[in-house]
Amino acid sequence: MTKNATTKKPPTVNKTVAPEPSKIGDYYDHKVFDLMTQLGDGNLHYGYWFDDNDTATFDQAMVQMTDEMIRRLDPRPGDRILDVGCGNGTPAMQLARARDVEVVGISVSARQVERGNRRAQEAGLGDRVRFEQIDAMNLPFDNGSFDHAWALESMLHMPDKQQVLTQVNRVVCSGARMPIADMVYLNPDPGQPRTATVSDTTIYASLTDIGDYPGIFRAAGFTVLELTDITRETAKTYDGYVEWIRAHRDEYVDIIGVEGYDLFLHNQAALGKMPELGYIFATAQRP
Ligand code: SAH
Repeated sequence: MTKNATTKKPPTVNKTVAPEPSKIGDYYDHKVFDLMTQLGDGNLHYGYWFDDNDTATFDQAMVQMTDEMIRRLDPRPGDRILDVGCGNGTPAMQLARARDVEVVGISVSARQVERGNRRAQEAGLGDRVRFEQIDAMNLPFDNGSFDHAWALESMLHMPDKQQVLTQVNRVVCSGARMPIADMVYLNPDPGQPRTATVSDTTIYASLTDIGDYPGIFRAAGFTVLELTDITRETAKTYDGYVEWIRAHRDEYVDIIGVEGYDLFLHNQAALGKMPELGYIFATAQRP
């Protein structure tokens, strides 16, 4: 028997950090996200299922999630919308088609911006949907230059949510709505340590407690319209995602190797089982 046999370090989801925006950009520039454009037409967010009888596939449920955000944004034709954390541009294009609006999407990932602009051109939407590499912590837009804004599953990455929302509040008009879909920690009990936290190696997140959102909105100058816990409506997401990761094992292994793949799969499956991890819609309005 070998005395000092080294055991492989088990994959972990126990570390929390507030990563810098440039690191988030590098993360989304990774080749893994080229592969992931094959999932859900480039959508990079949870699925939304209306109830237990909703038989939507994961791809369809991601479209339903964007539809729910569009309903909350409720823009008029011709409005100009800021999409904070645009990903591959799929939600912006769904919005532009559904409501005949103009969308400016921002991302810290250069590859996403390039991909989004190419896809918008190919879809014939290049005249009213465009993407720019901009950090939401420091928006270069004029005061009141957007009718509404949204953030679909991007706030989780923002180290200072109040700073981002203060910036958004400045660049939107009076009356503008700002729906957010975001991962949060649920019902934190102040006396109890969490059983797990989200790892920086898993999704590069700095999550907020669910109860903190209204205060952050108000401190940024917004009136709160809604805080809805949709943990249940989004719960099937990780089943769909893990199934997709398994089905694309060979492509993942080509990019990140067998060990990298095993760790990635483990972390994603673990996220889906974390009792503290929840999901919300939070909608606010600039007075
Ligand atoms: N809304 C898209 C993408 C979600 S992925 C969708 O639903 O498909 C998260 C997105 O947030 C990525 O595009 C990432 O680049 C962006 N993001 C993260 N931090 C950011 C920051 N500080 N400024 C701008 N975009 C950011």
